[in-house]
Amino acid sequence: MAANAQGVAEAPFVWHPATTAEAVQLKASLGAEGVFAAGGTLLRTQWESGLAAMPNHLINIGAIVELQGLQLDVGSGRGSFGAMMTLSDIRTSPIVNTRFPLLTEAARSIAAPSIRNLATIGGNVLSMVGDSLPALLIYDPVLHWHDGSSGLEEPLSDWLSTAAAHPAWKERLLLSVSLTEPALDSNTKRFVAYHKVGRRDAFTPSVVTAAFSIQLDPDNRLRDVRLAFGGGQTIPHRLETVEQFLIGKPADKKIITEVYSMIVEHYEPKGDAFVPVSYRKKAAANLIASELWKAAR
Ligand SMILES: Cc1cc2nc3c(=O)[nH]c(=O)nc-3n(C[C@H](O)[C@H](O)[C@H](O)COP(=O)(O)OP(=O)(O)OC[C@H]3O[C@@H](n4cnc5c(N)ncnc54)[C@H](O)[C@@H]3O)c2cc1C
Repeated sequence: MAANAQGVAEAPFVWHPATTAEAVQLKASLGAEGVFAAGGTLLRTQWESGLAAMPNHLINIGAIVELQGLQLDVGSGRGSFGAMMTLSDIRTSPIVNTRFPLLTEAARSIAAPSIRNLATIGGNVLSMVGDSLPALLIYDPVLHWHDGSSGLEEPLSDWLSTAAAHPAWKERLLLSVSLTEPALDSNTKRFVAYHKVGRRDAFTPSVVTAAFSIQLDPDNRLRDVRLAFGGGQTIPHRLETVEQFLIGKPADKKIITEVYSMIVEHYEPKGDAFVPVSYRKKAAANLIASELWKAAR
């Protein structure tokens, strides 16, 4: 392996563990010198833009069978997505589309097909700002890790709220993400939508990514309201204050007008030099208000 004057490898040494135990063991022995690589699409972008240095060792987790595919338990409505499942596989899976349609839509909206053929759900989640996250947050997602000695489970929302401040997770291997289908109450209708709003330039991060799931009962009252937002550098999250406000309310003009103002007040996106916070708030509020109108009609 050739090294430059700073002792950093010009091309990393690539390891190919066959099991999760082997991968975690490699990471433990290589420490910060070794980085897990799934599809490599985000890592590549980070190296090219100078956001991260190319490491001396890459631990390619692509051949580990335990990290592949989708396991579905029809009885409990629970689906377990292997961390190495690609966004293309998710986008084209009829089962995912039937059970978790927001995830199908999210996968469709991410990058171009050539990238989606490599990019994994695990890598998208661990980017902390991936466009799959608002869709995943609708389905009570749980992350399953291998931490070297045992398995570890953690709700995705807990991990998202602490990941930036507590980077200990970088030593672990993400095994899978499990989702649960929301139960449909009798006599109610479910409405779901996923939107990614971006600028016209190719490959710029989205301005707002929103996922929406509600049920309407026969009296046109809202049940089981779930709203999640992300986009740009905003860490995706559910807007629980607004969800609680909407539950039991009628889907009418007065409530939709109120919910617009509430989203503008409570949603706290990150702005940047191109798209200010105020614009992102209004875009998010408009998306939800328009979906409520459609459902009410
Ligand atoms: C041209 C282009 C366009 C893009 N457009 C979008 C877009 O529209 N929306 C979007 O959300 N993203 C986009 N991306 C970013 C990227 O493609 C996705 O986030 C992708 O899902 C990352 O997955 P990956 O498998 O390639 O991750 P990798 O690059 O392999 O890994 C990403 C990070 O996660 C870690 N990691 C990966 N898997 C595991 C695991 N199982 N356990 C522990 N650590 C792990 C890696 O160490 C690394 O730090 C784009 C990228 C490119 C190059």
